[in-house]
Amino acid sequence: PLSTEQVGDRILQTFAPPFQLGPQEVFVSTSIGIAIYPTDSDNSGALLQNADAAMYQAKNKRKSAYVRYAPEMKDVSHERLQIESKLRRALDLNEFELHFQPIVETLSGRLVGAEALIRWNSPSMGLVMPDKFIPLAEETGLIIPIGEWVIGKACAAAREWEETTSLQLSIAVNVSPRQFRDPGFVDIVRQALEIHQLSPDCLELEITEHLILDNTIETADILQQLDTMGVRLSVDDFGTGYSALSYLKSYPFDTLKIDKSFIRDIMAEEGDAALVKAIINMAHSLSLEVIAEGVEEPEQNLFLQEHHCDYSQGYFYNRPVSNTDFLEWVR
Ligand code: C2E
Ligand code: MG
Ligand code: MG
Repeated sequence: PLSTEQVGDRILQTFAPPFQLGPQEVFVSTSIGIAIYPTDSDNSGALLQNADAAMYQAKNKRKSAYVRYAPEMKDVSHERLQIESKLRRALDLNEFELHFQPIVETLSGRLVGAEALIRWNSPSMGLVMPDKFIPLAEETGLIIPIGEWVIGKACAAAREWEETTSLQLSIAVNVSPRQFRDPGFVDIVRQALEIHQLSPDCLELEITEHLILDNTIETADILQQLDTMGVRLSVDDFGTGYSALSYLKSYPFDTLKIDKSFIRDIMAEEGDAALVKAIINMAHSLSLEVIAEGVEEPEQNLFLQEHHCDYSQGYFYNRPVSNTDFLEWVR
């Protein structure tokens, strides 16, 4: 008989080569959770639950893998289930809130817009940051209604700012891969713009590099539709995804957001400084604008000014804050 490891390896190997779908090569990643009878449970329901818990550990490895169930995973999967059921109700209970962080023109310090960042005010868990629940929302599909709420709220806020400050500020909204591929996505964006009477070029959708390389056919089509609508498109966390850069010339992006991990060390690490300069130059040669994320220190700001980074965002200007506090800050 085969050992579970051998079976795991065989399945992984089977899925390792790319599959040909028409003209397209697609890669499939595989996450396997293993639970064994009767060691891990003698009850089929619990056995499957344990295998499921192990599978989530495998998924966390962010590459194809199998993981054998261990008893401490039970707590993790229990916690997951609890968060998941709370997350399902959070929209109805109005527990989400958008915070806004300014984006400024680097050279002048002029305010040009803000990024909308979601927070979850859970009565039992307190303020939950997006890194703690967006991945779960993504896995469960809850990101679709949550994301729709975010887009609506963000457009409403931008419209309100236009009325109260008479500045035309843009609003940047993060879009996760599952949300982006949802067939209704383009319509959701169009409706939000219409309902709140926001000009499409005031909305910037932030997409991570991972998405772009995942699913080329659909992605290209959706990006094209959004571009035709006049919505702006940016690549978030640029430099942390894959290194294939050819998508930059074929897709209709307007902006690159340099990941904050590069900005953090620009004053200390020559390598990071060189990369940031190179990204700025590359973006400009492709007629893209650049936003530096995570600007915290005046020295970083000077560096970015000197190297013609178009826009900046970070604690140096302001932390993400509630709409009320944002408007206060603008004043
Ligand atoms: P992101 O889009 O790259 O957002 C920037 C993150 O950097 C935010 O974290 C922000 O608070 C943080 N940040 C801003 N300035 C600084 C700085 O000077 N130093 C440091 N160290 N950090 C800074 P946050 O709000 O925790 O959001 C984390 C991630 O969650 C976001 O990364 C984004 O990918 C995701 N996210 C947030 N809101 C949404 C949403 O509405 N929908 C989706 N799909 N994802 C969201
Ligand atoms: Mg972002
Ligand atoms: Mg980012």
